[in-house]
Amino acid sequence: MDNIIDGRQISKKVRTELASYIERYETQLGFKPKLAVLLVGENKSAIAYVKGIMKMAKLSKVDVELVEYPDSITETNFLNEIRKFNQDSEVNGMLVLMPLPAHISRDNVFKVMSPLKDVDGLTSANIGDFYYGKTTHVASTPKGVDTLIEELKLEVKGLDACVIGASPVVGKPMAELLLQREATVTICHKETKDLRKHTLNADLIVACAGVAHLVKEDMVKENVIIFDVGVNFIEGKMVGDCDFDHIKDKASLITPVPGGVGPMTIATLFTQTYNAYKIMNNL
Ligand code: NAD
Repeated sequence: MDNIIDGRQISKKVRTELASYIERYETQLGFKPKLAVLLVGENKSAIAYVKGIMKMAKLSKVDVELVEYPDSITETNFLNEIRKFNQDSEVNGMLVLMPLPAHISRDNVFKVMSPLKDVDGLTSANIGDFYYGKTTHVASTPKGVDTLIEELKLEVKGLDACVIGASPVVGKPMAELLLQREATVTICHKETKDLRKHTLNADLIVACAGVAHLVKEDMVKENVIIFDVGVNFIEGKMVGDCDFDHIKDKASLITPVPGGVGPMTIATLFTQTYNAYKIMNNL
């Protein structure tokens, strides 16, 4: 159906375009952008995410270096690894996979990481710049949704948008991106009294609560646009936060799970690594 947004296809388009820019600069400089992915321990979802990144990197022509550390690495040693990559002129972007073991503080990681190489947009400097409307590195998942809006040429200005979820990595930056596009944004969260009241009013919904099938057909109006960020599992099957099968005919546009927002998150990491490469090489 043509109201289903094909995130895989759009991600492929973005990465193919990126590859064409990179090829040009590679000829000039003799090297490509490089993303270092730091994995501590053996978390299954983090390993699955790395595999997706490595697979999708090929088309984009960004080099990805996976660096693995044992669970037992001390915080001091891990922070020193980040400092080492900060200094490494061949590395343009850094991604630290979550969750980290309890003895390594996420806050300390982002205090040490160079904002220029923080291609997931999570250091305080990048978050601050973002809220002032500067866009070097933005949290990759909401930025991926924003790129879908851009690629689909959706006019968001003046729409009533509802973001379900208020985390610092997804919901809040998503709301800010929609605000920057001049939508009227409502942010809902787990203490919201009447979620349905807000979703029914919305022309556009971004569901990022992490609750399987939270948004049902009777909670949305006709022709709503839905971006479903949620990744949940029901009996081993990956599903989003929206009851896709029952909502899809009511929506004017909707992302599936999987194959919607996820591939755009990864494309954003590559784009932001490329942006850092350009800055570091005065391009
Ligand atoms: P989180 O747990 O940090 O935040 C969830 C937010 O949803 C919170 O603000 C919470 O108040 C709200 N919430 C929880 N239950 C709710 C309810 N019943 N009604 C309304 N709001 C509710 O999660 P997160 O890190 O922001 O991730 C959210 C979801 O997005 C997860 O499913 C995660 O797996 C997924 N995710 C997907 C991608 C991707 O690339 N596709 C990337 C990151 C996160």
